[in-house]
Amino acid sequence: MSIIPFNKPYLTGKEIDFIKGAHRNSQLAGDGYYTNLCSKWLEQNLDVQTALLTNSGTAALEMAAILLEIKPGDEIIMPSYTFVSTANAFVLRGGVPIFADIRPDTANINESLISSLITPKTKAIVVVHYAGVGCNMDMIMNLAREHNLIVIEDAAHAILSRYKQRKLGSIGDLGCLSFHETKNITCGEGGALLINNPKYIERARTIRNKGTNRYEFENGLIKKYSWVDIGSSFLPGELNAAFLWAQMIQAEYIIRNRIMSWETYHDGLKSLEQSGNLRRPYIPSDCKHNAHMYYLLLPSEISRNEFIAYMRSCSINCTFHYTPLHNSKAAIKYQLPRTTNEMHVTESVSQRLVRLPLWVGVDPHLEKVIDCTKSFFLINDYQ
Ligand SMILES: *Cc1c(COP(=O)(O)O)cnc(C)c1O
Repeated sequence: MSIIPFNKPYLTGKEIDFIKGAHRNSQLAGDGYYTNLCSKWLEQNLDVQTALLTNSGTAALEMAAILLEIKPGDEIIMPSYTFVSTANAFVLRGGVPIFADIRPDTANINESLISSLITPKTKAIVVVHYAGVGCNMDMIMNLAREHNLIVIEDAAHAILSRYKQRKLGSIGDLGCLSFHETKNITCGEGGALLINNPKYIERARTIRNKGTNRYEFENGLIKKYSWVDIGSSFLPGELNAAFLWAQMIQAEYIIRNRIMSWETYHDGLKSLEQSGNLRRPYIPSDCKHNAHMYYLLLPSEISRNEFIAYMRSCSINCTFHYTPLHNSKAAIKYQLPRTTNEMHVTESVSQRLVRLPLWVGVDPHLEKVIDCTKSFFLINDYQ
């Protein structure tokens, strides 16, 4: 019996045509025809002033840390329940992540804990919209304004999701997207920096282009380009952008299809939540999500691990997710303040969360996944 994979990147069928197009244009380096199409699409569809394609979500976060001029000792408040790059990008510049616990309902940063973590060294708040579900941005933006802090949205999961009608990634000073193979819209490895605060635009172009003013040169504003600031090679080549463009023009279909599968899980597993066996994802009423992920919270780490093994025996691949950063080897090696607050929810969610297969085309398998989930709780008396 073939295994139902946890993730399967969707191919629209146009990717190779567009890659051939880039080849035909003899334009393989970055910032050509397809890069331009992709960044314009992001600007229009996410309502952001400027979108710059990057090699990865990680690269976008690293650009954000450079733009913020993070200096050794600067503190950045962020969740511990996130991907390593959220913290790594700042640690690379000497920044110190200050980890906040998450909300038990959405697994997003607990906004009510942030103010107690602010010190004179605090520079920024990085929020992660877990599973494409928005953080409480009203409260976080107000807090940031009050304390003169910069807000970065790690919107790696959240393309086209909304918070109160606004697209995620368009609310903070900067937003970071990922087009990694595991994300809704993909080119294998890729990302984008979304710039909402115009004061960052010019310098972002320089940093992305190896610290040169090549952008001004390409646009006929100067006669030659030179080294003007620090920077790196953060821009993707045209082949990746061509692939990504095929996905962008299908973005609505991709998300609609994922939402249908998400809803099928949600309806199918409702009875298990009602009987107290598990908890399903919670979507606050002011959020519209993009079905990036369907997860379940089981009663304990033991039941979660047994669930993954049981599903495996039914040829279904389910996976756990982030291990908290505050307890990571890197946090110990670099003596990051592990936490200044309790991390009970982070630790509990990390131990109890499991993700079900969700990808475009998973539809025919949903019934089996739901049935096997139910039979796990018939066999085991987990409450
Ligand atoms: C995927 C992801 C990233 C990193 O994106 P890459 O494109 O893989 O570098 C950063 N933050 C979060 C929350 C992610 O899920």
